[in-house]
Amino acid sequence: MHESKIPNQPLFRQTTRLAPSPTGALHLGNAFAFVINWALARKLGWHIALRIEDLDTPRVKPGAIDQTIHTLEWLGLDWDSGPTTQTDRLDRYQQAMITLAHGQHVYPCELTRSQIEQAASAPHTNDPDQHETRFDPSLRPTEIPKTFHDAGTNWRLRVEPGTIAFEDTHMGAQAFDLNTTRGDFVVWTKRCTPSYQLAVVVDDHDAGITQIVRGNDLLDSAARQLLLYRALEIESEPTYTHLPLIRGSDGRRLAKRHGDTRIDTYTQSETPPEKIIGLLAYWCKITHQRTPISINEFKDRFSLDTLPTDDIVFTPEDDAWLRS
Ligand code: GLU
Repeated sequence: MHESKIPNQPLFRQTTRLAPSPTGALHLGNAFAFVINWALARKLGWHIALRIEDLDTPRVKPGAIDQTIHTLEWLGLDWDSGPTTQTDRLDRYQQAMITLAHGQHVYPCELTRSQIEQAASAPHTNDPDQHETRFDPSLRPTEIPKTFHDAGTNWRLRVEPGTIAFEDTHMGAQAFDLNTTRGDFVVWTKRCTPSYQLAVVVDDHDAGITQIVRGNDLLDSAARQLLLYRALEIESEPTYTHLPLIRGSDGRRLAKRHGDTRIDTYTQSETPPEKIIGLLAYWCKITHQRTPISINEFKDRFSLDTLPTDDIVFTPEDDAWLRS
């Protein structure tokens, strides 16, 4: 289903979010997803909320949130509400845990990584960028409590056998058997904070998010998040649009090893934003050669119909053009 087919729901406004993690500096891969998310929203009249995901990393450096916002603005993006920050919302995540515990969907788990690995019957993925080990349900305690005590322990969600299926606007029909691939996953951490999966579901629900646009490394997270919507008895589930990832020439997800692709570094070397947007436009097949374009032209010409579904390679030629 492509954007022309996203149902137009006149009774309420569609809402999306830009949800950067302030891990340091946004790189070209992050910019790719945020610019497409913004362009779709502005084309289709969605409300845009800015949310800073400052929980999903243990180390938010001072100034990193401001730097992240500044980079989004420099690219030409804007939003209609926010920023909200997850660290201000811990009580909401705790309430969700109380609800999950009441339904006996979650349980505390003090097993170490090596204990979990010993019981794992199969690794969940061949992707070298993902390291999570499957949690075998045989490791579950026999007694599942009905109350939540935030005692600095990991808590896991019970993942029963069965397929979670959904239609992704860009990637098509998806089906995940999370019991086989992931097993019971952590929703509350021993650092007394929710996991990324839980925080995102609570935040998206509270903010009335109807459209989620992000990199396809989170496709299986969408399945995990849908399980959480159902365990929390939230009826309105969002529409997902997962985008190709930007990879280095070695096929690995864009990272430091591929050179410095941080947007701030290009800013400092006086690469104009139109060049960054121009490279993203070339990747999206808006243009047939690398040429600078404005963010508004990107928005007007962007279509999911020409966007590849396969991941995109950031080549040495791309890098050389940006720096030329
Ligand atoms: N915080 C994540 C990121 O910066 C996005 C998570 C999401 O969109 O659900 O990649």
